[in-house]
Amino acid sequence: MRIVLLGAPGSGKGTQAKLLIEKRRVPHISTGDMLRAAVASGTRFGLKAKSIMEAGNLVPDDVMLGIIAERLAQPDAADGFILDGFPRTRQQAMDLEELLDQLGAPLDAAILMDVDFDILMKRLTGRRTCSATGKLLNVYFSPKAELEACKAAGGELLQRDDDNEETIARRLDVYRENTEPVVEYYRKRGKLRVVDAEGTVDAVSDRLKEALG
Ligand code: AMP
Repeated sequence: MRIVLLGAPGSGKGTQAKLLIEKRRVPHISTGDMLRAAVASGTRFGLKAKSIMEAGNLVPDDVMLGIIAERLAQPDAADGFILDGFPRTRQQAMDLEELLDQLGAPLDAAILMDVDFDILMKRLTGRRTCSATGKLLNVYFSPKAELEACKAAGGELLQRDDDNEETIARRLDVYRENTEPVVEYYRKRGKLRVVDAEGTVDAVSDRLKEALG
C-alpha cells in the first residue's frame, strides 16, 4: 500500500495514519514529525525549520524533496508507506511522482480527509499530546477519562508550538493556497478518494478503511 493522506491541518491525518499502521506493515511517514525531530535535535537546519514552522509557513520544496527521498529509500518503505503531510505543494506532488517513477513504485491513491473549516479550528486549538503515553487528545472532544488517564500516568497535556490561533490561521491560509491545488493534481490523475473526516475517530477510521478497499 502506497498512499498519501491529504487534508487541512486538523483533519486527522496523523491520528488515522497511526490507526492504519496497526494493521498494515508499512511505515507512517509524517514530514511534520520528522521536522519536529530536527527542531528538537537543535541542528542549524532544525533552527531554520523551527522559525518557519512557528510562523505557519512551509519549508522550501527542495529541502522537503531531499528529506522525503532519503526516507523513502530506507528498507522499511520498500513494501509501501503512508505519507502524512507530504506533498503539500504542486511542486512536491510532481517531485514525488518522479521519485516513485524512478523506484518503479507508483502511488495507489491519495486520500483527502474532508472536514469543514469551522471544525478544524476547534480541533487544532484543543489538540494536545500526552507526554507520558504519546496519545493524541483533544480538550474539547476527548472523553474525560482519557484526559485524566494521561495525568494518572504521570503525563502532561502538551500543546504543539504551532497550535496557537495566529499560527493556525496562517497554516489554514497556506493550505488553501498551496495544498488545495495538490488535491486537484490527484483528482486529474484519477488517484483521489475523498473521505468524510467529520465525526468520531472510529467512524472516520471505518470510512477510511472502506475507501482503501
Ligand atoms: P504538520 O505536522 O504536518 O502539520 O506540519 C507542521 C509544519 O511542518 C507545517 O506547518 C510546515 O511548516 C512544516 N511541514 C510539514 N510538512 C511539510 C511539507 N511537506 N512541506 C513544507 N513544510 C512542511
